[in-house]
Amino acid sequence: MFVLPHSRGSSHGQTRIIRKAYEENVYIQMMQESYELWAQLEEEAGVELYRRTGLLVMGPENSEGFSCLQATMQSHKIPRVVLEKQEFRQHIPNVNLTDGNGALIDTNAGVLYADRALRAVQRLFQSSEGVIKDGEKVIDITPGAVVTVTTGSGVYRGRSLVITAGPWANRLLTHTGLQLPLKVVKINVCYWKEKIPGTYSVSQRFPCFIQMEPKEGEYDIYGLPSNEYPGLMKVCYHMGSETEPDERDKQTDRGDIDILMRYITRCLPGLVPVPAVVETCMYTVTPDHHFVLDSHPTYGNIIIGAGFSGHGFKFGPIIGKVLSQLAMGQVPSHDLSPFGIRRFQSHARSSL
Ligand SMILES: Cc1cc2nc3c(=O)[nH]c(=O)nc-3n(C[C@H](O)[C@H](O)[C@H](O)COP(=O)(O)OP(=O)(O)OC[C@H]3O[C@@H](n4cnc5c(N)ncnc54)[C@H](O)[C@@H]3O)c2cc1C
Repeated sequence: MFVLPHSRGSSHGQTRIIRKAYEENVYIQMMQESYELWAQLEEEAGVELYRRTGLLVMGPENSEGFSCLQATMQSHKIPRVVLEKQEFRQHIPNVNLTDGNGALIDTNAGVLYADRALRAVQRLFQSSEGVIKDGEKVIDITPGAVVTVTTGSGVYRGRSLVITAGPWANRLLTHTGLQLPLKVVKINVCYWKEKIPGTYSVSQRFPCFIQMEPKEGEYDIYGLPSNEYPGLMKVCYHMGSETEPDERDKQTDRGDIDILMRYITRCLPGLVPVPAVVETCMYTVTPDHHFVLDSHPTYGNIIIGAGFSGHGFKFGPIIGKVLSQLAMGQVPSHDLSPFGIRRFQSHARSSL
């Protein structure tokens, strides 16, 4: 739809967190292979896409989420270090651990260089004779044994079609008579100035972090060490306010920034608690925050990847693999049952 590279969807910007620290087995299993595929891509493209920094996870010690995360990581033998309260400061200076919180480090987690990764994939795809038609908007889809896709400047036919339209997923699915329960939210991507430059930097070995349930009822807060903008650390709230994807900039709610300012004052005292830079991105959120990776309930040759709920980037290579397996009628190499459309039975509307 937009000319590449663009910043109108969900995949732009320089960095994303990559981790295996998940509460669900299925994500850990998919991440085992995703790490391998990222490494393969790095090798083929000849560029660094992943930087290991570790991921500090903090969360209420007795909460279901934090306990479950620990148990799942342990059962999969994910390399990790559990930080006892008395040693926390020594390992992680400049962070105040909230009373009643536990902390652990997913030692192989780190930063993915997102923009660089997109460029690398596009370049390799083109060098193996793939064709990218950017700047061309899909305006109609006609399902059938042969699927017809009409854009502003052409008509394409194929035996199967994969739809991965991010925040615009439901717009495209309208043409197939399906609507998924997806909520598009605007995320304020905030960067915060270090009071002393370098305090929270990659070069000082500061890790990425996730703060689970900063306060009861609040969503997670996450951060990446200062790197892309020298002296500025990225810290964001894992939710935002609902928006239409094309009217993203009209959404001006800053409630998330207020939550971040309070958290930074409390827990990251080395940052100036007023954002120095605010950029914009969008999440496409499902009711259970799990992905949609499935074939269309009526047209088995239309494959849908959607609802990545703000945590899909790290899975990019494995998501591509399973969607292509579905499109080719193969058995997917991972259990996709948690990502089926049927789980929304009461929400998904199929008018055909
Ligand atoms: C602030 C922020 C932080 C995040 N942090 C992390 C993280 O740390 N780790 C992680 O794993 N994930 C993270 N994510 C999530 C991750 O970035 C997303 O899950 C992922 O980028 C979603 O990609 P997508 O392909 O579904 O959507 P998009 O990147 O938006 O791609 C959809 C594409 O479809 C195209 N399109 C739509 N409609 C049409 C049409 N009619 N015709 C033609 N083309 C069309 C659009 O132009 C767009 O290029 C984050 C997301 C945000 C916003």
